[in-house]
Amino acid sequence: MSEYVIAIDQGTTSTRAIVFDKAGSVVSTGQLEHTQRLPKPGWVEHDATEIWKNTREVIGQALSRADITRHNIAAVGITNQRETTVVWDKNTGEPVYNAIVWQDTRTQSIVDALAADGGVDRFKEVVGLPLTTYFSGTKIKWILDNVDGARERAEAGDLLFGNTDAWVLWNLTGGTDGGVHVTDVTNASRTLFMDLETLDWRDDILEVFGVPRSMLPEIKSSSEVYGQVESSSLLREVPIAGILGDQQAATFGQAAFAKGESKNTYGTGNFLIFQTGEEIVRSKNGLLTTVGYRLGDAKPHYALEGAIAVTGSLVQWLRDNLGIISSAPEIEQLAASVDDNGGAYFVPAFSGLFAPYWRSDARGALVGLTRFVTKAHIARAVLEATAFQTREVLDAVNADSGVDLSELKVDGGMTANDLLMQFQADILGVPVVRPVVAETTALGAAYAAGLAVGFWSNLDELRANWQEDKRWEPQLDASGRERQLRLWKKAVTKTFDWVD
Ligand code: ADP
Repeated sequence: MSEYVIAIDQGTTSTRAIVFDKAGSVVSTGQLEHTQRLPKPGWVEHDATEIWKNTREVIGQALSRADITRHNIAAVGITNQRETTVVWDKNTGEPVYNAIVWQDTRTQSIVDALAADGGVDRFKEVVGLPLTTYFSGTKIKWILDNVDGARERAEAGDLLFGNTDAWVLWNLTGGTDGGVHVTDVTNASRTLFMDLETLDWRDDILEVFGVPRSMLPEIKSSSEVYGQVESSSLLREVPIAGILGDQQAATFGQAAFAKGESKNTYGTGNFLIFQTGEEIVRSKNGLLTTVGYRLGDAKPHYALEGAIAVTGSLVQWLRDNLGIISSAPEIEQLAASVDDNGGAYFVPAFSGLFAPYWRSDARGALVGLTRFVTKAHIARAVLEATAFQTREVLDAVNADSGVDLSELKVDGGMTANDLLMQFQADILGVPVVRPVVAETTALGAAYAAGLAVGFWSNLDELRANWQEDKRWEPQLDASGRERQLRLWKKAVTKTFDWVD
């Protein structure tokens, strides 16, 4: 009997496989981190082969820890770091270059050249996104322009592109031996190439970028059977039946399906998603328009998204680059040893600023320093940076949607930090709420896969699984909140115009 669904969560820092039961509870987990390659300032790469190897291994870990086999698994769901770009040879299965990660800013000159004709919003009406280094499109172009022979091989039809969902799916379904080259609408909506109305690739945009259509995966819904796992895998013959980009998956896992529902994920970066139902809402306040999910042949659901590049990764930076803490959770104790930030504000514009500013010319700044400031104040400023950036995104959502959110559903690694969550509620002025199942990203992918094979029958069944774990109520008065926010906004202006 198949009493479980397994989700593969191919994230920025690690790959996980998580087995879920019908109640949406975690039964077992396998997890492996992969190497972050930082060859030059602004460059971030992963080894796609290492990621695929880790994927196979974490599946084994999760199955053996639950003491189950493929016979217990009804379906596989995949969720992934979006935008991260893999280009590989379909004849050998070898990537032609390391995966270029979503945070990577090397394509700024490509962005500038494309924006010279029509500005950064030249494709926004069609694809919902501004031209920035963030999305896959410019990264594919960089590989074709810079890797020896890549353009010729792509034009000959030998190369395939995928985000890591498509890379994992192709390998999981057999690779060079019949691998399925497919992605879902949510991932496709992050390339700069997909028309939000038709949900198909746009030939005119591909031509501007010089990317052959034959490289691109077929776009399918987020919940349908794409293929079966190949025969050498521990999961052989299990259907792969759900794909959602990580942020859309977390929204799905939070059971935020309907228009007006939302979630905010605190991971490497922060991502707030606000569902707009069947309506495509074009932001006037620096948010992205994206696909929320599509279930089989049903109509697609769209969303507004506030993407913040650097939140949890600033904590990692404090650990790895400054050595002020030796583990991420340690930051809480250090920050709690002082009453406030001592006047210090840290704007982590390491990859420029994403929502709501979209300033690729910005670089990080730590301002307000006096001799009074200690590492504890800096730790506090690091945590507060996440909360301030989130407040600015929430203001944009409220302005675009015309409704003020009355509470914020949260998830992700940083929500373990009590001090941060309390400060978040304080600076938003609305309660912050965390569900029992913290692994919402993997859960969302499991839900999409389980729905496609009848393991779960409808969205109401999934809604009934959602349970509150903890709630933080705002405690700061309005004037304290506004003062902090004013200083933060002033700090943000100090980061602008920093790239020559
Ligand atoms: P992702 O899925 O993007 O890899 P996770 O949701 O696993 O990220 O969250 C990991 C991030 O959260 C890391 O960047 C880490 O620095 C940060 N983090 C983890 N625990 C804490 C904590 N207790 N306090 C603050 N930040 C934390």
